[in-house]
Amino acid sequence: MDYDVIIVGGGPAGLAFARSLNDQGLETLLVERQPYAALADPAYDGREIALTHGSRAILERLGAWERLPEIAPLQAARVRNGRSAFALDFEPGPAGEALGWLVPNHHIRRALFETVAGQPGLRLACGTSLASARTGRRFAEVALSTGETVRGRLLVAADSRMSPLRDQLGIAAEVNRLGRSMLVCRVAHSKWHEQVATEWFGHGQTIALLPLNNGMSSVVLTLPEREIEQLAALPDAALGAELTRRSANLLGTMEVAGEVAGSRHVYPLVTTWAKHFGARRAALIGDAAVGMHPVTAHGFNLGLSGQALLAAVVGEAARRGRDPGGERGIRAYEEAHRAAARPLWLGTNLLVRLYTDERPLARAVRHAGLRLGARLPLFRSGVRGMLMAR
Ligand SMILES: Cc1cc2nc3c(=O)[nH]c(=O)nc-3n(C[C@H](O)[C@H](O)[C@H](O)COP(=O)(O)OP(=O)(O)OC[C@H]3O[C@@H](n4cnc5c(N)ncnc54)[C@H](O)[C@@H]3O)c2cc1C
Repeated sequence: MDYDVIIVGGGPAGLAFARSLNDQGLETLLVERQPYAALADPAYDGREIALTHGSRAILERLGAWERLPEIAPLQAARVRNGRSAFALDFEPGPAGEALGWLVPNHHIRRALFETVAGQPGLRLACGTSLASARTGRRFAEVALSTGETVRGRLLVAADSRMSPLRDQLGIAAEVNRLGRSMLVCRVAHSKWHEQVATEWFGHGQTIALLPLNNGMSSVVLTLPEREIEQLAALPDAALGAELTRRSANLLGTMEVAGEVAGSRHVYPLVTTWAKHFGARRAALIGDAAVGMHPVTAHGFNLGLSGQALLAAVVGEAARRGRDPGGERGIRAYEEAHRAAARPLWLGTNLLVRLYTDERPLARAVRHAGLRLGARLPLFRSGVRGMLMAR
């Protein structure tokens, strides 16, 4: 056997999992198609990841949290519907604690990479892709783009929502192409955001305003793909004016800002749900298992908790001198992670359907839904509790 564990994909989920296996005495291979330099110093990609208290606790345990150079507290969140002035508010915790934190995705990637660089027992195969994979009773075998073939006891797919490894393993997935894209960019604006995130389901568009440090915000605008492409091609000044108009001046006049001048990024909306999170000698983590719609900001949070679950069963097997790719452990991981992910997956999809339906009845239902939510303190404290659970 060449390795105990082979991980395909060095995104945040794959890196976090590799780090979680530290000190378990396991020989691990991490295969990532991007070159070493892109992993060590990832480029800004526009994503600002909203992290829950549970995710912060995991990142602290992994030694990544203290490496993050930019963390913006999310004090409260506000949901608005259409032209109504009414908003459903989620306030800070009883002692004024933040609901969560916003951290740029590339900083998370860099911090996690720093934690695994030089980790004993871990080999990083960067600039290397998966060519093919098969799993048998005793081991999994992976052919790499370099021509090398390696064997391991457990094969882990962390290779994103369109996971090539998931296909190789013959695991089917529900793939929803929503025909919409998100444009994300940083803006400076004339009004203070009060560290409050706004999710506004306007008619024909969804816009999220995420509060960052230095009085800036990240705008996440969702529209049909063609419209987003046209907006993304606008010069900075015109895009700023368009975002000011589309956000109805909520934060005043907006100007495109950011780490890289004029930087804006487009993400087509595709959500995925794998029919299984485990198979013989294999497991799926991160977006390869469930690729959530970003509207409820659960994707990476779920990826982090899922990798922690898998690492716990693999670590337990290693400590007891058992097979880290044994069937019982994979089944335990699959059951636990599906139970945690399914309500979020179904709830998020329901929300997306309801809030992108422009028929008068749907508009009325969501308006009523927000008002009902506001009258149910238990509902609001339940959502807050979910974000703040450690
Ligand atoms: C606009 C936007 C906003 C978001 N906001 C939030 C948020 O607020 N909160 C939240 O929790 N989540 C959020 N998410 C989701 C979050 O970004 C993802 O859940 C997370 O990045 C998934 O990490 P991953 O490691 O599973 O996959 P990825 O980040 O996709 O990484 C996969 C890695 O696998 C590598 N790879 C792929 N194929 C191969 C191959 N064949 N061989 C070798 N390597 C391969 C890729 O190069 C990549 O490095 C957001 C997403 C978007 C698009």
